[in-house]
Amino acid sequence: MNLLSVIIPSYNEESNVPLAAARLSEVLETANIPYELIFVDDGSRDRTYEVICAEARCNPAVRGISFSRNFGKESAIFAGLREAKGDAAVVTDCDMQFPPEVIPEMVALWKQGYEVVEGKKRARGKEAAAHGWFARMFYKLIGKAVGMDMASSSDFKLLDRRVVNVLNTLTEKDTFFRALSFWAGFRTATVEFEVQERVNGTSKWSVRGLIQYAINNITSFTTAPLRLVTFLGILSLIASLVLGVQTLVRFFMGSAVEGFTTVILLLLVIGGTIMISLGIIGHYIARIYDEVKNRPRYIVAHRTEEERHAVDA
Ligand code: UDP
Ligand code: MG
Repeated sequence: MNLLSVIIPSYNEESNVPLAAARLSEVLETANIPYELIFVDDGSRDRTYEVICAEARCNPAVRGISFSRNFGKESAIFAGLREAKGDAAVVTDCDMQFPPEVIPEMVALWKQGYEVVEGKKRARGKEAAAHGWFARMFYKLIGKAVGMDMASSSDFKLLDRRVVNVLNTLTEKDTFFRALSFWAGFRTATVEFEVQERVNGTSKWSVRGLIQYAINNITSFTTAPLRLVTFLGILSLIASLVLGVQTLVRFFMGSAVEGFTTVILLLLVIGGTIMISLGIIGHYIARIYDEVKNRPRYIVAHRTEEERHAVDA
């Protein structure tokens, strides 16, 4: 039977790490699946890494790396994919919102020959109505960009070694893991699961963070906003032709409008459109700048393997 790597990004999850390790190993051992658990400490400010080290000492199937600072969940996932030694990798959360019992189902599908198994949320967890609406809009846009139905998708996935290798070759720094597995293609199956309540602690997302996340992910998958700029330009051009002819006709007929209001309104509308367009273009330039700098996506500061050697010596 082939090795399964479970990747668990963890940020300030000291209370959840032991729980996650216990539940995941219990489920996988019961299902007779050889596994390794890879905890990626995303620069936590609490004792997450110490707890991971303690777990690694008790259970040889547990490993961990720790970032030098917080690099975000995406970086943590990609670091985990690089670390993974398994023939397949599962990405899950540390707060156990993705039920570990689903993993054996995913593995079963993988054994049937599926290379990507997507975890699909049956119902979105408890959240505010505005949040739900926002999330749906966001997934519609992204779904259009990757040409797939992305609604109720999640970061909970199983990827075959082939897919992991493909993702490991991507050089882009700003990634959106959830959509990349759709983008990569391969034979895909889905399993549905019920999103659980977070066990301990609170969600790490602020509204501002979510908006930023949405904008970044949309622009990392589509240039539609840039086409919107062109579209706005065409609209203004048509409007200017119509208004221009009308203004000239009135001028020569000696009845030009002298209203200041028109001028102010026109300035405001055109000014606003130009500013927004510049903002959109600027956003893409900023992204090019970030990619061109070619900095590493994350910095690994510690590994549990080293810690073990330190104890042995
Ligand atoms: N996480 C991370 N880095 C971050 C934020 C979150 O590695 O900067 C991890 C976190 O520890 C958890 C997972 O990503 O395992 C999902 O985070 P959270 O539960 O806060 O998000 P939500 O479930 O509310 O979407
Ligand atoms: Mg969560």
